[in-house]
Amino acid sequence: MTAVFLKRGRDKPARQRHPWVFSGAIARVDGEPQDGDPVDVRAADGDWLARGILNRRSQIAVRLLTWDPDEAVDANLWRHRLARAVDARARLPALAGTSAYRLAFSEADGVPGLVVDRYADWLAVQFSALAADRWREAIVTALVELIQPRGIVARDDPEAREKEGLLAAEGVVWGEPPPAHVEIEEDGLTFLVDVLRGQKTGFYLDQRENRRLVEPYGRGAQVLDAFAYTGAFAVRAWRGGAVSVTTVESSPEALALAEENLARNGFGGRTEHVVGNAFRELRAFRAAGRRFDVVILDPPKFARSAGHLEQAGRGYKDINLLALHLLEPGGILVTFSCSGLVGTDLFQQIVWEAALDAGRDVQVIARCAQAPDHPVALNFPESAYLKGLICRVW
Ligand code: SAH
Repeated sequence: MTAVFLKRGRDKPARQRHPWVFSGAIARVDGEPQDGDPVDVRAADGDWLARGILNRRSQIAVRLLTWDPDEAVDANLWRHRLARAVDARARLPALAGTSAYRLAFSEADGVPGLVVDRYADWLAVQFSALAADRWREAIVTALVELIQPRGIVARDDPEAREKEGLLAAEGVVWGEPPPAHVEIEEDGLTFLVDVLRGQKTGFYLDQRENRRLVEPYGRGAQVLDAFAYTGAFAVRAWRGGAVSVTTVESSPEALALAEENLARNGFGGRTEHVVGNAFRELRAFRAAGRRFDVVILDPPKFARSAGHLEQAGRGYKDINLLALHLLEPGGILVTFSCSGLVGTDLFQQIVWEAALDAGRDVQVIARCAQAPDHPVALNFPESAYLKGLICRVW
């Protein structure tokens, strides 16, 4: 029987159901398993701990799938886990108003390396670990059976696939190709999503609850939506009653879609769209004496690895400092970090440092996290990545 034996004293994470076995924790591999094969994981003394899928090309050498010795790692396991995830979404009150949501969130849903996002009748799937990629066909078959979509598209996370030794493999994997823009609904608003080429799988589903929180702050406000992507926050601010909305975004394609999303929801008029680097554009706004009542900062992930943490901290501080300078007294700063490595406390500290430098008094009036279709598994704290603060700035 093939088995992975851990080094002495390295069994604790597996016993605590952490789903990753790092290559450095492995003493030896018995038998001749190929990468992608199921393996048992045993402690140094031979005690059975868990079962997972081997990938020696990755630093995460085994992705654990079950802690039940009677459960086989096979197509049935994937089908079972997906059925559970789908059922959980069907019973999430937060999803009542939307046709777009995350159906399965990788380790946090017991499906390591697999993300499934639903956009109306289409599914966008990311296979970002060999564990999931190896079961691609079984996963697609299970999704067809569970959801009956019109089509399924595979979207790559190239960085993650490279770490797993996987080649690019994007495209339609089942059914009809989606139109250039799939229309989705969220709380009575409609958005166009580029499921084949958009960022992530096309839309920032994880910000849904935070969009809901931000909407009422739009009332009577001049709003700046920085890192706007396709304008999801901008549209919300408009519906909340904003008197003007300015978006800043580096991707012209995304911003063109933002304009279209505003227009199709009936919000034309007092909008200004700036294609550019937010750091530069916010500095230019300050130089021009511009002021806003609400500033939303939703930058991309600045901290890609622990080695980037310091640089990322500076990035977050700089952009928050720039935003604070632009706010009217009593204005609202909505500020996010989607870097998993930047914890909630550290992020608050960074915003505080920016407040000190700006000479502004800042009060936290609400805290934000990822939407409930992106659950946080307690045995996998890494699944918590999105944090945000809604602040009153004096
Ligand atoms: N707020 C958006 C999601 C933002 S994701 C929403 O709710 O849909 C981060 C966005 O920042 C991406 O669209 C990316 O293209 C953009 N971006 C990255 N670096 C940037 C920079 N330096 N200046 C402006 N935009 C940037």
